[in-house]
Amino acid sequence: MEKDNQAFFWIKSEGEKKLATENMIPGNRVYKEKLITIKGTEYRLWDPFRSKLAAAIMNGLETFPIKNKSSVLYLGTSSGTTVSHISDIVGPSGIIFGVEHTSRVAREFLDRVVAYRKNIIPILQDARRPREYVGAFGKVDVVYADIAQPDQTKIAIENCKAYLKKNGHFFLTIKAKSIDSVKSSGKIIEGEVDKLRDSFEVLQNIDLRPYDKEHAMILSIAQN
Ligand code: SAM
Repeated sequence: MEKDNQAFFWIKSEGEKKLATENMIPGNRVYKEKLITIKGTEYRLWDPFRSKLAAAIMNGLETFPIKNKSSVLYLGTSSGTTVSHISDIVGPSGIIFGVEHTSRVAREFLDRVVAYRKNIIPILQDARRPREYVGAFGKVDVVYADIAQPDQTKIAIENCKAYLKKNGHFFLTIKAKSIDSVKSSGKIIEGEVDKLRDSFEVLQNIDLRPYDKEHAMILSIAQN
């Protein structure tokens, strides 16, 4: 096993180097991921075909701003696959505010993930109206957005304006086809990155193939 940093780990499994996080809730699985114990510590393999953050790491993400004790606002938790790994990383002293608006999906998120992990605060709200969850928390270290909406960049920027600390990090996943089904993915992604330039310093733009087609992960830093 290689210790890449305090956040995630590379573990040899079935002849390949695989990504993993240390399981904060030993014995607990979230999406049938494999559990591996090494020297008394249990790790959960982190599947890049199921999580765009894992795909970004596999494809060369250079800065990993989510650390032990970080605070994260996560937009579009779905049933909580990626959130569960972030929960492992931030640990019991960190916190994740997880926004999801579809009640059926949110129910799964609550039952499968939130029920076991005390560092997640679920917010069953529409991310288009960030001012409605005001009072829930102060400013966070990281905003992570994965809501697959045509106006996802605008929604995510509004959330950053309300809740991201100055110099905080912003992960934006872009699903090109949910923005425009005709234009080339490259052009769509460039257009979305341009929308960030006024308020963010763009650090990296990562193509998520082969894990996710026509998706990109943009990491940037809030300038104000
Ligand atoms: N991030 C998840 C993961 O890695 O496990 C997958 C997220 S999925 C691509 C997008 C999610 O965003 C869906 O669960 C959807 O219901 C949610 N979503 C879409 N629009 C939203 C909005 N306006 N407010 C809150 N959640 C939204």
